[in-house]
Amino acid sequence: AGDVKNKYEGIWRLSKLGVSVDKDPGKDFLGVSDGLLEQIAKVLEFPVPSMLPTEAFTVVRKSFDARKRLKEPKFVYIVEMDVDKLLSLEPRAWDFISELEPKVGLVEHMPEARKSGDLINIIQDFKKVHQGIVSRGSGNNRSNGSEGSHTHPTATKPKIAVVGSGPSGLFAALVLAEFGADVTLLERGQPVEQRGRDIGALVVRRMLQTESNFCFGEGGAGTWSDGKLVTRIGRNSGSVLAVMETLVHFGAPEGILVDGKPHLGTDRLVPLLRNFRQHLQQLGVTIKFGTRVDDLLVDNAQVVGVKVSDSAENSQKWGYDAVVLAVGHSARDFYQTLLSHNIDLIPKDFAVGLRIEHPQEVVNSLQYSGLATEVRRGRGKVPVADYKVAKYVSGKDGEEPSGATSRSCYSFCMCPGGQVVLTSTNPSEICINGMSFSKRASKWANAALVVTVSAKDFDVLNLRGPLAGVEFQQAKVLIVSSLVTSVPPSSYRLGVKAANLHEIFPIHITETLQHSLSVFDKETRTSSPIQIPRDIDTYESTSLKGLYPVGEGAGYAGGIVSAAVDGMYAGFAVAKNFGLCNEGI
Ligand code: FAD
Repeated sequence: AGDVKNKYEGIWRLSKLGVSVDKDPGKDFLGVSDGLLEQIAKVLEFPVPSMLPTEAFTVVRKSFDARKRLKEPKFVYIVEMDVDKLLSLEPRAWDFISELEPKVGLVEHMPEARKSGDLINIIQDFKKVHQGIVSRGSGNNRSNGSEGSHTHPTATKPKIAVVGSGPSGLFAALVLAEFGADVTLLERGQPVEQRGRDIGALVVRRMLQTESNFCFGEGGAGTWSDGKLVTRIGRNSGSVLAVMETLVHFGAPEGILVDGKPHLGTDRLVPLLRNFRQHLQQLGVTIKFGTRVDDLLVDNAQVVGVKVSDSAENSQKWGYDAVVLAVGHSARDFYQTLLSHNIDLIPKDFAVGLRIEHPQEVVNSLQYSGLATEVRRGRGKVPVADYKVAKYVSGKDGEEPSGATSRSCYSFCMCPGGQVVLTSTNPSEICINGMSFSKRASKWANAALVVTVSAKDFDVLNLRGPLAGVEFQQAKVLIVSSLVTSVPPSSYRLGVKAANLHEIFPIHITETLQHSLSVFDKETRTSSPIQIPRDIDTYESTSLKGLYPVGEGAGYAGGIVSAAVDGMYAGFAVAKNFGLCNEGI
């Protein structure tokens, strides 16, 4: 009997448990409701759901599924069942557990920990470091976090500059500081408190600070954003979980670990970043805001430091053993600097387009029909509705997409219950994006609608070389001086006016948008135009020793979570290169 029991003990994962909206407490409830117990009981064929102890079950994912092909919209759960706990609280469950058969994707037995694979050891180490933070952080005898908290010798601490405090820079700085490096974080923009005031002045008084705005400043481009934490790099991977748990450690709600479409909103990001900053400072990281890196100091084909300007444009040279470059993709001025040091830059395909805006009510009723009344501007039972659309458009009707005129058009960075914001860093350009607050209570829904562009498009405009994509972006700018308010209505506070798209974009882009929009009806800047090549293991630039290009600006990420994961891995790689840890990637 013992052997039989061993076969069942541990954790069982039950997936695709659907609970109808009327039986679910709603999107904000992440525990085990009676409606969910009913579904669990059904899978176990247990006759009386209310006899199942809720303590034996943990919700690990909750999503809302309102796809049209379903009979009715449902909350869909993945639940982990702790068999030992279940049997100790309700021994009669054994008769049913012993009948349980694994079914791929529905009922799975996980006798050991949740994950396996090469990455896991590294991530476990990373997590251990974070558990260490909690216990060390709660002590009072800590004058300087870099003292006594690490097992590594401190005599030969490498001096490392991390340039940029976006998600990639922050996570790289965190890992390096935890491993005992002497880290300086250099950020051209301002801390969140001052940055908030500068953004207020932009929105209310149309005053753009070129060094402190929606792109530049503490937290990087993701701070005044929608704070969507969805990623295409594998929601359940150890690395993504480690990033999410770190965000929770710094104040994000635990729900982001469970929610199928986690999002933070600007109001939560700002205090989270303050906690992140305080933690780095406790570890001994020197943080310098209002400090722009203008150049790399190179000696003997090796980075030996940086040249910086402060807010008053005073210039200084500082020496470092390595430079982690996490400048994001709005720092286009820095690409020129890299070229001047003969650093390889590889042009990448990317996408351009516009933001499309609808009243949120329209999106709610298209997605949810009768249930739209349950949204209640983010305070109701069901989440504020979003959407995703994509279309290949071929050159001629009926042809498979191929050749120069075939393109993809897709929605990107959809921002429900949010507002369109100006993300330009230069007063002569217009670049926009979407942001929201945690409740997503605005009347408006916006999304980028973009069309892919490649080297062929740059060629048509006689733009060649590694910066052709950057120049293409710069050629496609609008002059904002004649903007007027009120027509048509929009969430964009700086005012909008009607314009002909074909006067803004090349004809093939307008045509693709036009064609796709009519199809979508029936049924910007996106990522970096450049990649900076680096070694796959060491993360070091293949052109310049001591330089570590990371995040979105280097072409290795596209979003908050993927940038954070890239920064985290880079942190491990640099720490390993300097002998601060044995485990690499
Ligand atoms: P960044 O976040 O761009 O950070 C780079 C940092 O480097 C900046 O703080 C900048 O000031 C600093 N810097 C640049 N040059 C220098 C220099 N020379 N010297 C010193 N410092 C420098 N992604 C999502 O996943 N979900 C979303 O909901 C979402 N919404 C967005 C909304 C908006 C309005 C914007 C603008 C972006 C949004 N994104 C979103 C994209 C996301 O913010 C980026 O993908 C992510 O921030 C990239 O991280 P990063 O660390 O690579 O670079």
